Amino acid sequence: MLNFRDAQQRVLALAPRMGAERVGLEEAGGRVLAEDVLCPSDVPSFDGSVMDGYAVRAGDFVGEGPWEFPVRGESRAGGDVPDQFVPKTVARIFTGARLPTWADAVVMQEHVERAGDRARFERGAKEGTFVRKRGDDLRSGAVAIARGARLRPAHVALAGTVDRAWLTVARRPRVVLLATGDELRSPGTQGPLGSIAESNTVGLAAMARRAGAHVAIAPLVADDLNATKEAFEAALSNADVVISVGGVSVGDHDRVRPALEAIGVTLDFYRVAMKPGKPLALGKRGERIVLGLPGNPVSAMVTFAFFGAPLLRAMQGDAAPLPRAWRARAGRSMTREAGRLEFARASLARDGASWTATPLDNQASGAIATLARADALMAIPAECTELRAGDDVDVYLLEELGI
Ligand code: AMP
Ligand code: MG
Repeated sequence: MLNFRDAQQRVLALAPRMGAERVGLEEAGGRVLAEDVLCPSDVPSFDGSVMDGYAVRAGDFVGEGPWEFPVRGESRAGGDVPDQFVPKTVARIFTGARLPTWADAVVMQEHVERAGDRARFERGAKEGTFVRKRGDDLRSGAVAIARGARLRPAHVALAGTVDRAWLTVARRPRVVLLATGDELRSPGTQGPLGSIAESNTVGLAAMARRAGAHVAIAPLVADDLNATKEAFEAALSNADVVISVGGVSVGDHDRVRPALEAIGVTLDFYRVAMKPGKPLALGKRGERIVLGLPGNPVSAMVTFAFFGAPLLRAMQGDAAPLPRAWRARAGRSMTREAGRLEFARASLARDGASWTATPLDNQASGAIATLARADALMAIPAECTELRAGDDVDVYLLEELGI
């Protein structure tokens, strides 16, 4: 059985690269940048005021205050600037306005008494006070956003700041989701005793979309070899990645592996030493990838978070496709069997300077309510047989995993 890290590396190594396309800034959030965005000129592009007040020359405040100066002209955001220098005068200025070339500081209006066209200053000013200097944020020619960034709203705003109206991003991988199982029916429909509402594809679709994919959900697939072969064949003709759930284990009615082998999909692995989610298949046919996830709802989402989402992100050239771990302390002791890396659903609580992760009751692979209630997955190393309260552990935030 393959260990977790090796399996993750194999997924990344197998990921084919998507081409690129242009999108307007409004569509760019969540996409992966396929170019370096350069800064064509200094940001900000001029020395400006960050306060409503008065533009002054710090050197004019000699001796003891208060000081009084005539007010000559006004500089407002987007407006003309009183650039002509008249010694011992100040100018009215507002937030976002250009600083007159002769001025070197701004005094906020709360510290100025205005009487007609004269302004009285109780305190002096230091050079640079409340001035946003040209190039403070970014220098001309700098890389504003590097290729491979997964664009957050701040990146989109930064792209706008450097005057970009569109960005080159990776194309979205097309994903088809297949749910297998004779017992499945669509949520909200009737079915015989023993049938269950199919819940995996809606959850996985949301996760795959968050990882940047276009998602289609195929009709439910019966536990029948021919039906499974046909479903995969149809899905592969329409997708960059086919993700199935269920039927990937070794039960008599698990048809996924034999169906994949029968239609010429080369399997890279089909079991990973992790819990939940031991049966997990990765395969390839041409440039198309198949990921076979286990059917238990928690296993399906956890394996998708650690294998499916990283695969989709790597296909888009994401510079950091893997979820990141944070450190916490185990909230209680537990003993366990060695062998598989375990992801325990846990609640997180702040405890002084660190976080405590406490595993929730009912860690069954089907207990989706426990997953919905949890804050994080706590990683217990494969070889660990005894975890003590207070031990350091890796935790993955469900929010970041997109679960
Ligand atoms: P399997 O991986 O097919 O052996 O399924 C494992 C468990 O997950 C069984 O209890 C199935 O009924 C359940 N299951 C499989 N697929 C789904 C699904 N799409 N939605 C909800 N439960 C499922
Ligand atoms: Mg099944």
